[in-house]
Amino acid sequence: MSSSQGLSPADNGTSDGRLLKAALDSLTQGFAVFDAERRLQAWNARFFDLLELPDDLRRRGSGLAALFLALAERGDFGPGDAGSAAAREVERLFQPPDPAHLHLTPGGQVVERLVAPMADGGFVVTLTDATDRRRAELRLIESEERYALASAGANDGLWDWNLSTNRLYLSPRWKQMLALSEEDVTEEPAVWLDRVHPDEIERLSALLEAHLAGHSPHFECEHRIRRTDDAYLWVVARGLAVRDGLGRATRIAGSLTDVTERKYQEAQALHDALHDPLTQLPNRALFLDRVTQVLARAKRSGRGRFAVLCLDLDRFKLVNDSLGHHQGDELLAQVGRRLTAIAGQGQTVARPGGDEFAVLVDDVAGPVEARALAERLLVDLTKPIAVGDRQLVVTGSVGVALYEPIYDRADDMMRDAELAMYRAKSLGKARAELFHPSLHTHAVHLLTLENDLRQAIGRKELQLFFQPIISLKTGRVAGFESLVRWRHPRRGLLGPLEFITLAEETGLIGQIGAWVLEEACRRMRDWQARFPSDPPLTVSVNLSIRQFNQIDLVTEIVEILARSGWRAGRLKLELTETALMQNAARAAHILSQLKAADIDVSLDDFGTGYSSLSYLHALPFDTLKIDKSFVAGMVGERSKLEIVRAILLLAHNLKMDVVAEGVETIEQLAQLRALDCEYAQGYLFAPPLDAEAAEQLLGENRKW
Ligand code: C2E
Ligand code: MG
Ligand code: MG
Repeated sequence: MSSSQGLSPADNGTSDGRLLKAALDSLTQGFAVFDAERRLQAWNARFFDLLELPDDLRRRGSGLAALFLALAERGDFGPGDAGSAAAREVERLFQPPDPAHLHLTPGGQVVERLVAPMADGGFVVTLTDATDRRRAELRLIESEERYALASAGANDGLWDWNLSTNRLYLSPRWKQMLALSEEDVTEEPAVWLDRVHPDEIERLSALLEAHLAGHSPHFECEHRIRRTDDAYLWVVARGLAVRDGLGRATRIAGSLTDVTERKYQEAQALHDALHDPLTQLPNRALFLDRVTQVLARAKRSGRGRFAVLCLDLDRFKLVNDSLGHHQGDELLAQVGRRLTAIAGQGQTVARPGGDEFAVLVDDVAGPVEARALAERLLVDLTKPIAVGDRQLVVTGSVGVALYEPIYDRADDMMRDAELAMYRAKSLGKARAELFHPSLHTHAVHLLTLENDLRQAIGRKELQLFFQPIISLKTGRVAGFESLVRWRHPRRGLLGPLEFITLAEETGLIGQIGAWVLEEACRRMRDWQARFPSDPPLTVSVNLSIRQFNQIDLVTEIVEILARSGWRAGRLKLELTETALMQNAARAAHILSQLKAADIDVSLDDFGTGYSSLSYLHALPFDTLKIDKSFVAGMVGERSKLEIVRAILLLAHNLKMDVVAEGVETIEQLAQLRALDCEYAQGYLFAPPLDAEAAEQLLGENRKW
């Protein structure tokens, strides 16, 4: 080592001097002593190393100015004239209050310079490498700035809770979210906790505790928080604890995110999934859910006083078809509003679909009250509703299912209310019906029967019976009335009353009617050939209302006659008054068509329907059949006898033949003969017979 390196004042080869030099050189700080003339007197190597000064300055007597000039020439003090820059630095050195000064070397070292004056006018300069510390400080500043920037720019509020001091720092955004002003806010954690919705504070505390105790990797809690205007925001609070060496949480910091909008959208999506968009009423799913809840409550308490009402608008299809879907929708929306208003608070009004509405009525005392309520609903419903520029009057049919302990599922109650509603419809609409278990059996029964009936024709289960009609003049068989039977595979022989209405409702009557007509005509042709008579036999075939309304009825009949080889003049079609009354104009039209085709028409069951004698004049019937109820009471009941007498008189005046139905006794037969009745039919002669028995009867050629 040359003497120019690390000289000390005592460095004169003595052991003391070497010792001192070694001590000084071992310091991590740079160290230099200048005399009053600012000349270097002593130093250690670190002093020069830290400043990265050239070796030639490392000698006793180097002037401070020369040192600084060397630094200035290197550009350590920034651009400009090196001499004056050096002079400025030297000046700065001795000017309090800045004895410490940071110096940046070209190598990027940060050096802290400390000047300590000595009594003799000299001074000691200590240099400390501050590079690492400075970098850390800079990083800290930088990150603090970044944090400030982030917290100002972020949508989230930030919080930092010092658990040792129990102070809670809240970022400006946090306060802004809750519309809190700076003055409102202390550093008390209560600022946050007191604003949490009462329903969620417990959960929040539990989650926080769990995380602080180390049971969860982070803290997260969705909760409502009250703003200064008392409105609640939905927020998600997230946080992470800072722990000490023992794992104890000393601090927890995190964010608060406003999720009100998302919550609102979620709620909206949920609403949409459970409501009918047209009326905004609960849909079927939500309605059933409500019923399920009430049902569960009833089960728990062992006591239920509620009812499910099902309301279907009558003839709504007509509104849709005539006024268009737009007005139809409008009507539905209005009905929805009206029902909601009538039902009142606490009741759920829903639109399960189509033109059907449902009401969940809580707290109904019993069937009487339920029915009264349903009827009130119907009365209010019929008040005119303005749709477009029209005033519409709608009626509805209501079915009511009252809670019974047998109900386990909302679906079942709904189904029963609907069954009762269908019953109300079939009983003439615009009325309310209470569900009764028999309706259920009835519905199931009808459904199975319908399925069976669809297959009956193909499986040749239908069978035609024939009941003779006796001419009271000759006492012999003048013809037969064909009466259909169904040999049901499980239920045995069924009479027409058990399935004709169903056949009409399902439209199956078309096929059945055609089959009956053809079968009747074929049999008759066969019998006529084998048992010729003069005049030839007639056959009466019953027609139902539905068939009567069939567009191509006459054409079809004519075709069947042609196919089966039976003469039109020997066929009589039996119609009831009800069929005719439904559409008198159409009836007149069809009757004249039938007349033109040489087909006779009988008015069946006369006296049981509307019995309007006026249309007897207007419609060209050939035969009138007096209903068996008059015939039955004829002997003994004077009034019945008089009616039969009057009917016969009237019919004869109008040139009609008369058949008396349901003749069961010899007295009745005698009476009818006395009254000049042409024909009779009834158990006295024969019940409806199967083909074989009818054939046998013809073979006997009996006379009554
Ligand atoms: P309806 O045309 O008035 O037929 C007469 C009904 O009276 C028959 O009942 C017959 O069995 C019954 N009857 C006959 N004589 C007597 C008697 O002396 N005393 C009593 N109490 N009753 C007697 P059924 O066969 O049960 O037919 C009932 C109704 O079903 C028929 O009344 C008719 O309106 C309808 N019907 C029968 N067959 C057909 C058919 O093929 N098509 C259509 N559309 N309806 C049919
Ligand atoms: Mg008949
Ligand atoms: Mg009859």
